[in-house]
Amino acid sequence: MEEAFDYFSQPAQTRHHSSDFYKRRSFTYGDLTRDIARSREQLLQKYGSSLSGQRVAFLAENSYDYVVMLFSILASDAIALPLSPGFPAVELKYILENSGAGMLLATEKYAGKARELVDQSYNKSGPIVDIRPKILTQAGAGKSGSAEQLRDIRDSDSESKGGLMLYTSGTTNRPKGVFLPLSAILAQTQSLIEAWRYSPQDYLLHLLPLHHIHGLVNAVIVPALAGSSIEFMYPFNPDAVWHRLADPFLQDSGEPRNNKISFLTAVPTLYTRLMAAFPSLPADVQTAAKQAIAPHNLRLNISGSAALPTPIKKAWTELSNGNVLLERYGMTEVGMAISCGLDPNDRVDGSVGWPLPSVEVRLWDTDKGETIKAGEEVDDTGRERVGEIQLRGPTIFREYWGNPKATAESFVADEDNDSSSKGAWFRTGDVAVRRAVEGSGSSSSGEWAKGPMYFIQGRLSVDIIKTGGEKVSALEVERELLSLPQIAEAAVVGLPSERWGQKVAAVIVLSQDSGGGRGMESIMAVRRALRDRLAMHKLPQELKVLAGPIPRNAMGKVNKKALIREVFGDISV
Ligand code: ATP
Ligand code: MG
Repeated sequence: MEEAFDYFSQPAQTRHHSSDFYKRRSFTYGDLTRDIARSREQLLQKYGSSLSGQRVAFLAENSYDYVVMLFSILASDAIALPLSPGFPAVELKYILENSGAGMLLATEKYAGKARELVDQSYNKSGPIVDIRPKILTQAGAGKSGSAEQLRDIRDSDSESKGGLMLYTSGTTNRPKGVFLPLSAILAQTQSLIEAWRYSPQDYLLHLLPLHHIHGLVNAVIVPALAGSSIEFMYPFNPDAVWHRLADPFLQDSGEPRNNKISFLTAVPTLYTRLMAAFPSLPADVQTAAKQAIAPHNLRLNISGSAALPTPIKKAWTELSNGNVLLERYGMTEVGMAISCGLDPNDRVDGSVGWPLPSVEVRLWDTDKGETIKAGEEVDDTGRERVGEIQLRGPTIFREYWGNPKATAESFVADEDNDSSSKGAWFRTGDVAVRRAVEGSGSSSSGEWAKGPMYFIQGRLSVDIIKTGGEKVSALEVERELLSLPQIAEAAVVGLPSERWGQKVAAVIVLSQDSGGGRGMESIMAVRRALRDRLAMHKLPQELKVLAGPIPRNAMGKVNKKALIREVFGDISV
């Protein structure tokens, strides 16, 4: 874990840590701007204008060096392509080849891996490998700067060819290379700073991988441009996280009190793992940790990347004495799109909130081929209308790299014809309903947080189950399953059915409290309980109990097609 604890913060401070967990290096924004400038200069001297618009892949541990690399690539008008050091070589080769990266930068730690990759994948025409030894920094040397200077360090030219290339999580298919121009990243940044109010007073504990939008944009680029402090703790170790959160509140930990964490963003499964580790902490650490996550200390704790099960949200609220997880919805192609608000009343269970500033959302009825307009959320038979989330605005990506067909298919012209100058709508492939929620939309969350709220129903391709003429949202059934104490995990899928077209099936993992295993009694209890909660057509007709956890990718997401194959065999769905 030697690389896990880099952090940088606004004022220069010397840190001492008595705890065995810490061996940290710290940097200020002065160090950062100087090192970015230096690294950019080196890159430009060596490679000159060939950098402009070039895909520059990089392999670095979650650390200060990573941040320097990232921003110096962006500042060179190139396209930064972060690679996950944890990926198997075949995945990395796929990404290098698919992106046509011309250059691969690596920290010393990954020098061997970088050379090996390039030798194997590209032969002669492969990317140039450039190992960046000690991008860092004799503390104090050179001129210092501020967070504002970070913005200036890039060419402020709107014609920039640079930006980010991120690969999607690969939940539904092979990961797609998404090109986000610099202008989109900056628009995303502005939107999130407005909505979540990142500030120089914020101190973010960073727990996520850095090759996805969540860990990279929400938890590095945006806080860095807002001048917040960021501390890396990776790979995720729940015990270490609890100790770090608790330390500023313990008498003799050596952690200064002003190093309190104010901002935490994670995927639902990380919150689950934190809570599972909590009871084994020493009593004094428990007390301090509870203080650390109480609302007046931890200003904001966000969950996203996958649906947040209500029981996890409730348990976190209880443990933290009232801190309600803020759920938001986003994707690689658009950054964050819809979010709950800062006011705790604007974090409604099951909802992802309202369109973020500068993101335009419409719900598209795919059966009728029309927009679900305000006031049309319920149809003549009283059913809620489910629509595809379509988006437009300055935060949206430009293209799937090297795949003009996929790009073309993912945008639709503006059939409503209201203001065609604003361009086409991006089809997210996710579906939602919109519901007015009484008591929500406080003005303290901001202007953007008002009107009916969005509730994600899942992915159009796998989560909308058409059974006997009804549409069932897999997410809704999952939510009910997860609210039962007997169930620890649940994934709901549609299986082919001669009689109904599709039938609802559930894969579950029983909780420890239920006695675990495959206990028939628990299963019977689940069936009984569900009958009271769900309409007949939503009840799972098949219930499979897994002995181990449901397989998930690095972001905690379930590939449902793969799950169906694994659990139900090779049936066509
Ligand atoms: P791929 O596109 O390769 O199949 P992916 O869609 O999982 O993978 P990402 O861009 O990382 O890749 O994830 C975006 C998706 O995550 C969204 O389209 C949505 O399905 C899901 N998602 C994100 N936030 C939420 C949320 N709060 N609730 C439910 N689903 C969410
Ligand atoms: Mg996707």
